[in-house]
Amino acid sequence: MTVLVHSRAALAAELAKAPGEIAVVMTMGALHEGHRQLMRVARERSAFVVVTIFVNPLQFGPNEDFEKYPRTLDDDLAACRDEGVTVVFAPSRDDVYPGGAPSITMHPGPLGEILEGESRPGHFSGMLTVVQKLLMLTRANVAYFGEKDFQQLALIRRMARDLDMGVEIVGVPTVREIDGLALSSRNRFLSPDQRRSALALSRALREGAARSDPDSVLAVAHKILAEEPGVRVDYLALTGTDLGAAPESGAARLLVAAKVGSTRLIDNVALQLTPGTGAPL
Ligand code: AMP
Repeated sequence: MTVLVHSRAALAAELAKAPGEIAVVMTMGALHEGHRQLMRVARERSAFVVVTIFVNPLQFGPNEDFEKYPRTLDDDLAACRDEGVTVVFAPSRDDVYPGGAPSITMHPGPLGEILEGESRPGHFSGMLTVVQKLLMLTRANVAYFGEKDFQQLALIRRMARDLDMGVEIVGVPTVREIDGLALSSRNRFLSPDQRRSALALSRALREGAARSDPDSVLAVAHKILAEEPGVRVDYLALTGTDLGAAPESGAARLLVAAKVGSTRLIDNVALQLTPGTGAPL
């Protein structure tokens, strides 16, 4: 049976019943198959799984979509029940930040200043602050995050390691629609035309990742994005798996952020680079 709690006191009472390891899946709600995959992976290992649902104001910029972010608690609860989640923690803003905005917050360091960090100042500080608070509140031993938000996952891993937080961080591969679109709570804002345009992101990543020479990877991906007038690219970046400079050969990551209409989308894929394999477009 899945128990819904809103207050930190009620959460603590449920956590006291945990027979062993506590797993957490943190979400902002509007749950889809991507979130459900995280729950399934968590359930495979842990008998006690907490899902948190909280749209964290601290990680939204002043001109971002905090107010209009979808909130669908009843459906979310049904999804958590289906997936055998033990506790759903859906706190109010006051439950999470009883004294108002915290005066001590996380500093993401250099990894937080590139890519998403450059486009969304303050986002990663707000995100890491709430992740740390939710780890404390849920007393989780293991926490699951999606590769869809690859830089977020890298920063959370780094925070857990650098600050000896004693929690295991597990990354889960991105869940996509059949046609390649990465699932996102924000996809519901796309009109049918915009959704067609948005497919250029995953197509660019897929076609780029099919090349193995860095120049061709970027050229192919750029070309596909440029051919789609509905897409305004924020960045397209080829990096190492640690989000540092791309290696000459070996495992790398291709990441994209773009606006389709007023909806900002991100996506990324793994790829292998091999030097000297450039082929004409
Ligand atoms: P969000 O509700 O967008 O904050 O996402 C909550 C968690 O679900 C994060 O760890 C995300 O990376 C993960 N997530 C979101 N979309 C996907 C997806 N398409 N595939 C896998 N994980 C996802």
